[in-house]
Amino acid sequence: MSELEFHTLLVQGVFLVAALTVPALLFISAPYGRHARGGWGPQMDTRLAWMVMESPSVLWFLAVFFAGTHAWGLVPLLLLVLWQSHYVQRAFIFPLKIRPGGHTPVSVVAMGFAFNLVNAYVNARWIGEFGRYELSWLLDPRLWIGVGLFVLGYKINRRADAVLAALRKPGETGYKIPRGGLYELISCPNYFGELLEWTGWAIATWSVAGLSFAVFTAANLVPRALTHHQWYKQKFPEYPAGRKAVIPFVL
Ligand code: NDP
Repeated sequence: MSELEFHTLLVQGVFLVAALTVPALLFISAPYGRHARGGWGPQMDTRLAWMVMESPSVLWFLAVFFAGTHAWGLVPLLLLVLWQSHYVQRAFIFPLKIRPGGHTPVSVVAMGFAFNLVNAYVNARWIGEFGRYELSWLLDPRLWIGVGLFVLGYKINRRADAVLAALRKPGETGYKIPRGGLYELISCPNYFGELLEWTGWAIATWSVAGLSFAVFTAANLVPRALTHHQWYKQKFPEYPAGRKAVIPFVL
């Protein structure tokens, strides 16, 4: 089997995992954060969990990318900057902003770590080696539509996570109704931003590899947003009735 065939197999695997994730998460909420519960084995510190889980998307991605023969091309480097701008923040800055003292099952971290190993390889290898991104791609509207969507999603995601982080005073652990901005329309603007980012990535890279990650992100985050939304409505009787879960005015 050639490496390209192996890569294709992994991309197909990501689509398969996405298809299995939707029904699984509609019946069993991922057991971290507000949906944490026993029965998922040993736990570890949540801040460390995020760093461990997301680190392959920074470090392994860099290693795979720079092993590619097109790594020093202008377009691949631009795509690298997009990816890393998200993942350096997610792996090493975001964990320091969430409340300390939380716990996450090691089994969840192991699944996230394994997925990120595959996903980082699939995307880094595509943009650094198998994909063809000549300088002419800089004049293609797909690149800039994708970049624009990515940047918009990034801003929405960062702002939404910052609103959540500011809800708790030092030492607090409970939950409050988030307000302001997109929170007036949806319960999970952080997930909405994430969906825009990876849709933008799929368009900017115009690749099946990028599409597989966008599809997986939707498969993972839309059911979780629906679960969060239900949870908010049950926990807070005064929860704003017009708010949707994750897509303004739609879902
Ligand atoms: P959540 O919105 O569930 O939680 C984010 C943080 O905010 C947690 O620290 C949580 O605390 C806290 N928080 C959430 N709601 C409230 C509230 N109402 N009051 C007080 N504090 C609150 O997001 P996730 O943890 O699932 O995800 C974090 C980030 O990672 C998001 O930006 C998400 O988009 C991204 N992500 C991306 C994935 C992908 O597939 N690409 C997969 C999963 C996440 P606590 O932990 O105590 O609940």
